[in-house]
Amino acid sequence: MHIVSLAGGIGGARFLRGLRATAPDASITVIGNTGDDITLFGLRICPDLDTVMYTLGHGIDEQQGWGRAKETHVVKEELAAYGVEPQWFGLGDRDLATHIVRSQMLEAGFPLSQITQALCTRWQPGVQLLPMTDDRCETHVVIEDERGRRAVHFQEWWIRLRASVPARSFALVGADTAKPGPGVLEAIERADVVILPPSNPVVSIGTILQIPGIREALLPKTVVGVSPIIGGAPVRGMADACLTAIGVETSAQAVLELYGPELIDGWLVAEEDSAVALDDVRVVARPILMHDADAAADIARTALDLALELAR
Ligand code: GDP
Ligand code: CA
Repeated sequence: MHIVSLAGGIGGARFLRGLRATAPDASITVIGNTGDDITLFGLRICPDLDTVMYTLGHGIDEQQGWGRAKETHVVKEELAAYGVEPQWFGLGDRDLATHIVRSQMLEAGFPLSQITQALCTRWQPGVQLLPMTDDRCETHVVIEDERGRRAVHFQEWWIRLRASVPARSFALVGADTAKPGPGVLEAIERADVVILPPSNPVVSIGTILQIPGIREALLPKTVVGVSPIIGGAPVRGMADACLTAIGVETSAQAVLELYGPELIDGWLVAEEDSAVALDDVRVVARPILMHDADAAADIARTALDLALELAR
């Protein structure tokens, strides 16, 4: 069995850990979001790819959900002592090694897909992790504050501003000319089923779907999604700020409609959202809170069983 999954960071990674546990014999290809990527201090940082890699490779800070376990921050402190900006981005020492390896390989001319594969040789995530594209493609956010209307990098809005300044719109800079990464369309073509984890529908899954060719390739497939919204609230994080910015209500119903019935065949919602309904979509209500690894595996099992049933 071949499963394709799209993923952002924390929500995606925790779900994928459950999927891998419940389907140990399946081949799983993960198409990772690179819209959050940023260059800081001359280093290329891919937060979502790394969150998936560390989570599945037993290197994640479990409490935080991102970054490395047993992390230290000596380099960050030293940079701050020099007064170097930005100081708002959390860069741990262990994590920095990943960014150094990646940046060196980029400098040597390797594409991100090959670099990701090389990094995964260490982490052995048990899935094939493919960047959505090898092309540079970054999410920017149009905000309006006392300095007027301007666009900032997604990370500046998300981390420095904590999404507290309302976003007017998002722009995936570079998307119009970006091509799906090597193996992405082939994996979708070959997939028996496609599962969308409860990742951010705007700046994680929504970004991947904007790479020309990916959404189109998914349309003929059996796609089951897990709602990232439970009872009108994002379980963790600030997905509501992203949805509001694009004029979509923070609800399991509205996210389903955003993806659309052309894309989605099955939609897993929380029991309190059991009234969600859309023509041509099978909606199933079950507990979808990933409070631990076993819960994530149960949710993944339900999503996979639904997908296999719908694919028949
Ligand atoms: P990020 O890139 O680290 O922000 O992570 P993702 O995009 O992969 O996922 C973030 C989203 O996952 C959040 O906005 C939540 O809506 C959703 N989420 C997080 N934990 C859970 C959970 O336990 N259950 C469900 N259904 N959704 C969750
Ligand atoms: Ca992210």
